[in-house]
Amino acid sequence: MEFEGKSILLTGAGKGIGRATAKMLAERGAHVVAMTRTREDLDTLEGEIGCRSIVVDLANAEATREAARAALPVDYLVNCAGTTALDPFLDVSVETFDWIHAVNTRAPMIVAQEYARDRIARGLPGAIVNVSSVSSFIGFADHAAYCASKGALDALTRVMAHELGRHGIRVNAINPTVTLTPMATKAWSDPVKAERMLSRIPLGRFAEPEDIAEVILFLLSDRAAMLNGLAMPVDGGFMIN
Ligand code: NDP
Repeated sequence: MEFEGKSILLTGAGKGIGRATAKMLAERGAHVVAMTRTREDLDTLEGEIGCRSIVVDLANAEATREAARAALPVDYLVNCAGTTALDPFLDVSVETFDWIHAVNTRAPMIVAQEYARDRIARGLPGAIVNVSSVSSFIGFADHAAYCASKGALDALTRVMAHELGRHGIRVNAINPTVTLTPMATKAWSDPVKAERMLSRIPLGRFAEPEDIAEVILFLLSDRAAMLNGLAMPVDGGFMIN
């Protein structure tokens, strides 16, 4: 029960990696404040783990700041919510680019600002995990806006680690490979594309949401006390070839 008595604000808790993380945290004693867009997902999660729920569209900056303030105080923060759209570079619209950056990059910044201000005001340390992607390192075709948003999230993470580290708040990003969630179904349903990706993963499989959740919990915990500013691939070795 490593997280007994700890509270964690977790965005994107409704599905996929966020939901697996919420369940793992609850199993290990944490109280989860779950933030996502779809009410029904939170209703079922509440039934499963007894979390507190906040519904918000993270594409809306003002609503995001208000929701973050309503969630506080918490001990730790996980920015997991993310979204994607597949477009060849020449067809990416300004609207799509802005929307993906609003959810994947701007919302983590806003939520982390509110979390960190509160921790600093209370004179308490903390930890933040930003869920990025191997897409921040690789130029996947048709993922221009997504790759750019995750590259920006890694850069943001390093600045946060620098400035917030001085207040005892560690900030790390994790960069998963394809993970079997509803988002992966949207991005990797073409079997030829999926096979090409899979052939580059030495461990020979895509990640399960629980593989990613384990690393998120590790980075939040005191076991990672000296880790700050990482962009950590969780990818079965994809990045080495
Ligand atoms: P899912 O699509 O399965 O779940 C994403 C969650 O984020 C959902 O609960 C979703 O809610 C929520 N969310 C998305 N947009 C918004 C929004 N505008 N406002 C509030 N909540 C929102 O995604 P994954 O679990 O696969 O992804 C989780 C994170 O991991 C993302 O940041 C993603 O980029 C990253 N990642 C995923 C990989 C993969 O292969 N799956 C690989 C690498 C990184 P709703 O369904 O209601 O929209």
